[in-house]
Amino acid sequence: MATLKSNDSADSGPRGSTPDANDEEKTELCPGFKDVDAFVKYGLGAVLSATKASASLPQAGDEYDFYRSFPGFQEFCESQGDKLLHCMSQMMQHHGCRSHMRERNKLTGLEERFDLVVDSNDVILERAGILLDEADGVNRTQQPVMPAGFQPPKIVVSSWNRKGSGSGSRSEMFRLLHAKNVARPQLKFKEKVDNSNTPFVPKIFIKPNAIKTLPSYFTNKQIRKERPEDLDVPAALADFIHQQRTQEHVEDMFAHPYQYELDHLTIPESLLSKPEPQMYKPMAETKCSFIDALEDLVALNEKLCRLSEFAVDLEHHSYRSFLGLTCLMQISTRDEDFIIDTLELRSELYILNEAFTDPTIVKVFHGADSDIEWLQRDFGLYVVNLFDTHQASRALNLARHSLDHLLKHFCSVDSDKRYQLADWRIRPLPDEMVQYARTDTHYLLYIYDCVRAQLLDFNHGQPGLLQSVWNKSKDISLKKYLKPIYTEESYLELQRKQKKSFNTQQLTAFRLLFAWRDKLARQEDESTGYVLPTHMMSKISEELPREPQGIIACCNPVPPLVRQQVNELHLLVQQAREMPLLKAEIAAQKKKGLTPIKKPEVALFGPHDTSRVSESDLRHFSPGELPVKQGMLFSDNEHKMDVDVQKTSGLIAPAKIPLFEELETKNEQESLSVAHMKARRIIESFENPFRMYLPSTDVHINKNAKFDPSSKIFEISKRWKLQSIEQQQKEFEAKRKAKEEAKEQARKVTEERNKAKQSYQESLQNVATVRQQAAESTKGGGKKRERVASEVGESTPKPSKKLMKSAEKPQKTEPPPPDSFTPFDYSQSDLKVFADTKSKDNSQFDPNRQAHDFKKKKNPKGQKSNFGAGNRSMSYLAGKSDRGFRHNWPKR
Ligand code: AMP
Ligand code: MN
Ligand code: ZN
Repeated sequence: MATLKSNDSADSGPRGSTPDANDEEKTELCPGFKDVDAFVKYGLGAVLSATKASASLPQAGDEYDFYRSFPGFQEFCESQGDKLLHCMSQMMQHHGCRSHMRERNKLTGLEERFDLVVDSNDVILERAGILLDEADGVNRTQQPVMPAGFQPPKIVVSSWNRKGSGSGSRSEMFRLLHAKNVARPQLKFKEKVDNSNTPFVPKIFIKPNAIKTLPSYFTNKQIRKERPEDLDVPAALADFIHQQRTQEHVEDMFAHPYQYELDHLTIPESLLSKPEPQMYKPMAETKCSFIDALEDLVALNEKLCRLSEFAVDLEHHSYRSFLGLTCLMQISTRDEDFIIDTLELRSELYILNEAFTDPTIVKVFHGADSDIEWLQRDFGLYVVNLFDTHQASRALNLARHSLDHLLKHFCSVDSDKRYQLADWRIRPLPDEMVQYARTDTHYLLYIYDCVRAQLLDFNHGQPGLLQSVWNKSKDISLKKYLKPIYTEESYLELQRKQKKSFNTQQLTAFRLLFAWRDKLARQEDESTGYVLPTHMMSKISEELPREPQGIIACCNPVPPLVRQQVNELHLLVQQAREMPLLKAEIAAQKKKGLTPIKKPEVALFGPHDTSRVSESDLRHFSPGELPVKQGMLFSDNEHKMDVDVQKTSGLIAPAKIPLFEELETKNEQESLSVAHMKARRIIESFENPFRMYLPSTDVHINKNAKFDPSSKIFEISKRWKLQSIEQQQKEFEAKRKAKEEAKEQARKVTEERNKAKQSYQESLQNVATVRQQAAESTKGGGKKRERVASEVGESTPKPSKKLMKSAEKPQKTEPPPPDSFTPFDYSQSDLKVFADTKSKDNSQFDPNRQAHDFKKKKNPKGQKSNFGAGNRSMSYLAGKSDRGFRHNWPKR
């Protein structure tokens, strides 16, 4: 890398592969390579083949151990290893790094050597960066590197390409501007960031431009500060506790504060007619103010309130913060640009609501989806009367919908999006970044004019298309910020995206690491990506390293918190290794909801602890999808079942499925002790304090909001309450229906039983007749009836077998409640039919005994059973209470 010094490196950089005839006359870059391209091409090829070769080495673990048992292999490894170490040492020495790679203390040496390599890589990459900067005419070597926590020096990361602005010669290189020593802005925030695993509650406490006044919940915020709940719990939790005490404000807490105003917003005629595009002022002639003081912000707000439109954009940082930080706000009017330091004025920005929610002032954004959420989350700002040029671009069906493209298309401006991913926390802001930020809003009002005119032209002067853009923009401004909420199933959604099929141990590791990462990220206010990037998490889960070093080896570079907590991580991996190993198919079934039953094994309970068996692991059976062959874990049950079913097959064949259900339920209950149940409830209350407001139907949770903004979890709104009321009503209705059905069933049972009785008697009579005939033919007269009766049990004729089934059926589903029970009328039948007690089958015909036997079978441990609810209802109830809240998060 250090050889990439040539001046054209930035332009013809690594991407270039087109041979240039002119280059041939130039002197060779280094022996054997005519130019940078050739060198890079060769270098990449070499790296690629080295990577391939290393991938085909014997796998660590058994495979390697096996090969190691051959002396030849061992020897070869040693010699090659020495060679490699030597080579690395030389490289490190060349770069002036510590390089005692070959001191081979095998036990402590590996980790230390690994650190050396990481350090050296840092140094080399840093050097390459500096050289590239130099090549671009920037010298940043004077920049002192300050210890973390210090106020950053003037510019830690400076521009690295001055050619960028305007010249059009864009380097294709895209570099993440990352500042090493930026002080954490969070430290200066007046209000602590609330990373608790609780839903977001709007920050607003004053509501300008209100048609509907702000609920008292928000206006009393100052008073609420004195509440005892606020003392040592996160704000949202305190709010929740308070709210629980007072049992009010639930609706208000999660509603969009400007919902009413937005619902009643109409776009005036003037904004639906064709505008004359008003040309932007050249940037160079435009005043630009940097605002980081309250009085300037107040003045800006006053200025904005007098306008009829202004453009807004935000810059954001998400790497060193859990929820993300809005670092900058750019505002452009027709005459001026403003750059607001939103880190500095974070607690004061709410005053802009006066202009932002004024329905007579149009706020123009480009792609406002995230901005709307960030404004709410960080400042309690809302937008009433938004125009999103991204939506306009879509409606116009332009080739692309990025701001770059609009700038090029309408303003012939070549923007440079390289700074988009810069570290916007840097202060003071380098001039290049200020310029970049300005560009994002400076031209936007002109673009707003242009797209409106085109939208009307496009639609032959009819306002329909333009109106649709206004409507879509309004929908965006109605978006609510939803905090990423950790649930026990969050990990599954992320795991699915890895497109790797994990066995139970790997999946467990992934689940545990995911929980660890989430907890730590909230605690340390870091992004989950900073704590442990997903691909590393996936690799650790896949490899399940036996040693802490193995975990380190899965990470390159090693995240600081992983290094710090490698022992904790190691314990988690060990814990995962203790899981019974099931194949990937089973793991995949689990994802589909067919989860093998596992015994809870660990009793470490905490809000983020998922080490115990997750409920979802146990509760996915619904009567329709009972696994018949579910692997060894089921084998015992199945065996038992088979015996049971065989024994009774001819008699209660249709009862098979309910019995299954019953057994499942029973097993579940057995596998969870009372303490476990209790703990589970506690944990549930931890994870979702809003459980009480949730409907109890089986609604799928959509998690991982953090990773997919379009699929955020929480739709916390009054809908919850409405839903739960609705749900209660539904449940009430269902109960009522169930009762009615039970009555109806009971009636039917009686009816059927009577019918059965009748036909049974008929059949008996038939049988008797046949036998009578037979008897008569042999002996004649005498004891016919008795003989018939005693033989019935063993040789029940077919017709009566069928009848038994039909008599059985209603009992199996709905044994009649005592009040509506009509006893069998024995007066008509010969009671000696039942005399043979040896024959179990005979019991079939005694409804009372039948019910009794049934009960015994169902409740071998004498548990109280609710027969009124019926067997089906029982399993339903069990399922319902288990599934409880988890699946009940409202869908978005
Ligand atoms: P923009 O609206 O283009 O100025 O982007 C605003 C913020 O969104 C930037 O400061 C970034 O934090 C973030 N952002 C924009 N584009 C990306 C991207 N492609 N990847 C990650 N973050 C992005
Ligand atoms: Mn933006
Ligand atoms: Zn921007």
